[in-house]
Amino acid sequence: MSAEASGGAGQWFEASPWAGLALDGDTLRVLAANPAAARLYGRTPEQLCQMNWAELSGDAAPVWEGRAVHRREDGSAFEVEVATGAACADGRALRVVQLKPPACDMEGTLAAEVVEMLAGRQAVEPILFRIAELFDRRFPALASAALLLADGRLVHAAAPRLGVPLRHSLDGLPIEEAPGSGEPASPYWGESANTADIAADPRWSRWRALALDGGLRGCWSEPMVSGAGEILGVFSVFLARVRPLDRAERRAVRAAAHMAGLAVEHRNLTGELTYQAFHDPVTGLPNRILFEERLRQALARPGHEGRGLAILYIHLDRISVVADLLGRQVSDLLLDQAARRLEPALRGGDTLGRVREHDFAALLPGVGSPAAADASGERVRQSLAAPFAVLGHELTVTASVGAAVYPVHGTEAAALLLNAETASRAAQRTGRNRVQSFQPEMSARTRQRLLIESTLGRAAERGELNLLYQPQFDGAGGRLCGAEALLRWNHPEIGLSSPAAFIPVAEETGLIVEIGRWALVEACRQAARWAAGSERPIRVAVNVSPVQFDRDGFVESVAEALRETGLDPALLEIELTEGALAGDIDRAALTLGRLAELGAGTALDDFGTGYSSLSYLQRLPVGVIKMDRAFTQQIVSESDRPPLASGIVTLAHALGRRVVAEGIETEAQRAAVCAMGVDVLQGFLFGPPSDVGTFASRWLPETARLAGASR
Ligand code: C2E
Ligand code: MG
Ligand code: MG
Repeated sequence: MSAEASGGAGQWFEASPWAGLALDGDTLRVLAANPAAARLYGRTPEQLCQMNWAELSGDAAPVWEGRAVHRREDGSAFEVEVATGAACADGRALRVVQLKPPACDMEGTLAAEVVEMLAGRQAVEPILFRIAELFDRRFPALASAALLLADGRLVHAAAPRLGVPLRHSLDGLPIEEAPGSGEPASPYWGESANTADIAADPRWSRWRALALDGGLRGCWSEPMVSGAGEILGVFSVFLARVRPLDRAERRAVRAAAHMAGLAVEHRNLTGELTYQAFHDPVTGLPNRILFEERLRQALARPGHEGRGLAILYIHLDRISVVADLLGRQVSDLLLDQAARRLEPALRGGDTLGRVREHDFAALLPGVGSPAAADASGERVRQSLAAPFAVLGHELTVTASVGAAVYPVHGTEAAALLLNAETASRAAQRTGRNRVQSFQPEMSARTRQRLLIESTLGRAAERGELNLLYQPQFDGAGGRLCGAEALLRWNHPEIGLSSPAAFIPVAEETGLIVEIGRWALVEACRQAARWAAGSERPIRVAVNVSPVQFDRDGFVESVAEALRETGLDPALLEIELTEGALAGDIDRAALTLGRLAELGAGTALDDFGTGYSSLSYLQRLPVGVIKMDRAFTQQIVSESDRPPLASGIVTLAHALGRRVVAEGIETEAQRAAVCAMGVDVLQGFLFGPPSDVGTFASRWLPETARLAGASR
């Protein structure tokens, strides 16, 4: 009945992708409904034939042309584009109504969905699949395919209705072999391309059988182009018949290709950035940001309280030495190998991350007691025990592992990680290569240290470092003869910080090299200014850390500072501690000799507190011995002659060295050390370390104006 009633146009009516109804011209009763109409209204064609146009449209005034709102069987409303034509069958007037989804609907829906999926961090494939799916649903007579270009090949991304064999044959295809790629009007050059008839087109010879088998006769392709004009892929639609695309279809293909291109471009950018932002480039492990996020997630998971959770903070001891001696490449490879060993020491659900340069952290869900965490830490520590082979070097690495357990050692992610790190630091301080559980009393000290560590790198460039100068006087004449430059850090949070608090951190992190160089140049510059305005210039003593002294290029950096500031080398004295000279004594002697060649003086600071032995002193060409203030401070009366202090002075003089007594606080101490024959005096009695202006106005009146103005 329906074919008849549709006026002899039965076949197209039945096969049309669009909903079609044939209505009685007078009563507006439905005489025929095609399958698409049945799908649209959610009713069978027979049910539809029981209804009339007014019931279907549900509107007070039925719309015959243009947009209207209709209702499905279940009462839900939908928008349609209505087009009506007149026909005649068996002398009966008919109205033939075609119903399409509104034209812009797909494009609007597409844009909204794609944006939402991008914002939801969806991978690109599901987004392309959704675009193709929406397209196919909107244009049931077409089958779409999204193909991406990667390294000169087509990659199948989404083609919900394309046959598997055709999809496979296109996947991975080099672009130059793709249909039509050799022509200027190809999507690979940014143009739309049309294959009117696959059966006849020579460009399709290779895919003809597959395409025709799948019922495909025509193909239209639009390039997916990035904002910068790069071709990212192709959005193609296949037709079942030889016919051109109509305007709405062409517009929709272009819109779909555009949205697909946007999605791909956006993912290319953010996908890469996201990976880089959350992973460590050396080991590929989650970085600190991602690790902390995983930790937060683990803590937010319902029921985790009952299972427990532990954090291991794994510091690789002395990796910085490897980097210093063998270079960054070796230390990076070593870190990577270490990561590969740590992974199997953990369980499947655990997370390993690299949270600092030499530190890993592991998140162990289900480990609920300090004893269990310690046991895991021990396993981790032992996994690193065997030596590593890196670029021909056999290297041994030990780990200082700290453990913190939820909830005893913290309930928040940040606190747990910090406490595990604190425990690891404690392990480092107490011999390294061990596992240490967090103890509450560790935290205050470590918090400050971590703050220092994280801000010290920027101290110099932010102008937070400063040198104070403490005067030194002739033992014989009592005249000003020099100044010791002493570093201060004006920390924005901690306030004025003494070297004892931050020099050890700077040494451990290697930042001391940069900071030490700054102090050296700054002190030389100041001494040169003073010298320029004075008839009797004073020497400046600069403290140098063992880490700095041991570095290649140290002597060159001193020469450079002298050259740069124009300071007479005889006015510079490098102060070293015994620690700097304790390692390779021959190498130390060589460096001291080279400093002497430059014309700079050297002094052995804090003498008497370390390993000092007579033979040791004999072999080191230092010009000055600075007796540690512990000796000076033993002196309580003018007549005191502490045997050690006297011994040091006698010994130094016998070896031809001059002696400085530091830490002189009382007149009695001054008198006593003078009586011992000490050459130079320094201490609070004469003056504390003070800023340049104060120093100059008090001790260098003749240059005060100059010096004060120069800072
Ligand atoms: P140091 O080289 O032995 O410096 C002498 C320290 O004793 C200074 O402490 C000084 O303020 C203090 N002092 C001076 N006179 C007296 C006194 O009469 N009584 C007492 N009780 N103390 C006195 P400061 O400035 O805190 O420096 C501590 C250490 O930090 C220095 O010991 C030095 O080893 C290191 N340091 C200072 N500046 C630098 C630097 O630029 N580079 C390096 N590597 N180390 C530095
Ligand atoms: Mg000193
Ligand atoms: Mg000292």
